[in-house]
Amino acid sequence: MGNQIGIVGGGIGGLTAAIALRHLGREVTVYEKAPEFGRVGADINLTPNSVHALDELGVGAVIRESAARPTYRISRTWDTGEETSRLEMSDAAENRYGAPQLTIHRADLLSALEAALPATAVRLDHRLVGLRQRPGAGVQLRFANGADIEVDVAIGADGIHSGVRTALFGQEHPVFTGVVAYRAVVPTERVDVPNLEAFTKWWGPDPETQIVTFPLNRGRDTFIFATTPQDSWTEESWTTPGDVEELRAMYAHFHPEARALLDACDSVLKSALYVRDPLPHWSVGSATLLGDAAHPMMPFMAQGAAMSIEDAVVLARALAEHQDVTQALKAYEAARLPRASKVQLGSRDNTWLKTSADADWVYAYDAWATPLS
Ligand SMILES: Cc1cc2nc3c(=O)[nH]c(=O)nc-3n(C[C@H](O)[C@H](O)[C@H](O)COP(=O)(O)OP(=O)(O)OC[C@H]3O[C@@H](n4cnc5c(N)ncnc54)[C@H](O)[C@@H]3O)c2cc1C
Repeated sequence: MGNQIGIVGGGIGGLTAAIALRHLGREVTVYEKAPEFGRVGADINLTPNSVHALDELGVGAVIRESAARPTYRISRTWDTGEETSRLEMSDAAENRYGAPQLTIHRADLLSALEAALPATAVRLDHRLVGLRQRPGAGVQLRFANGADIEVDVAIGADGIHSGVRTALFGQEHPVFTGVVAYRAVVPTERVDVPNLEAFTKWWGPDPETQIVTFPLNRGRDTFIFATTPQDSWTEESWTTPGDVEELRAMYAHFHPEARALLDACDSVLKSALYVRDPLPHWSVGSATLLGDAAHPMMPFMAQGAAMSIEDAVVLARALAEHQDVTQALKAYEAARLPRASKVQLGSRDNTWLKTSADADWVYAYDAWATPLS
């Protein structure tokens, strides 16, 4: 295998893959389209499977400094407030899975990952506009700034609108699910509601309607994520402003404790949820995909970031263990595709932990130990 590994996309998956590859002795460069890393986005939910993966990379201690550590994962019914399941998430999860659940601002997680890499490993302002590979040769990456770079292995970690995925598998047309999501952050001291130190999901009258709340910034803030059906939508984005009055009206019939949180919101972001079917393969020649580029998923299992972190570790292990790129990418896909597809489809169903408290198949996964063929 040649030495040049190029990762397109410096998000959570791309940066984790770069750290893991360097940890295993490989040189790698990340090409990120943004001119700088800004404070974009809000919550990221890191379940024990992903915290454990990051701990091995030495990033865990840094993220614990700003993350919150939810005490429980509680399911409640939207109108009566009845509790239908409760899973211990803090010390109990740490004992059971070797790591706790953490909830963290996306920007704080990205800063921790960025700090674990030398500045020379990340090239900002590199937006991929073309990818070409010839049999037996490397992968040619073309960027909007005019740079033309050949790598031996190309990893598409460029998110839900992945240009690498389009280059490898053709243009797709994701389907609007008929569900929109609201995201808001409120200072915790402003609301007098019990259990704000827990991750709570208020299950609505239909599978599309729910309110999820959990602590952020070590509990100083509470994050709110609410979904509801809507007939049409035109843009798939994380950053479109929404209307707080509309938000409150949508959940006017919910339990007063859920409504109290919405009453405390000053602003809200609104996004549409789109769906794509699992791909049968992620790799072509010496190029592959990870994270949202490979398996964009609905947020109902809160596994988007976790799956990209797991992918990153397993891909780095496969590339470190196999000299032959094709073999490495085959081993990576065999280890990761079935699990990620199962979570992608499970996230669509939105029944995860509604009444059951058995989370082991997701949270007990060990990306450092899962067998590689
Ligand atoms: C701006 C933004 C805000 C988000 N906010 C939230 C949030 O609040 N809550 C939440 O749960 N999830 C959020 N997400 C999604 C979440 O981070 C991902 O679902 C998850 O972490 C999977 O990570 P990923 O690395 O696969 O993709 P992402 O984290 O989406 O990373 C993809 C990276 O690729 C870069 N990129 C895209 N196209 C190109 C290109 N052509 N050339 C070079 N680089 C490119 C992007 O700028 C981005 O840095 C957000 C994602 C983005 C991009």
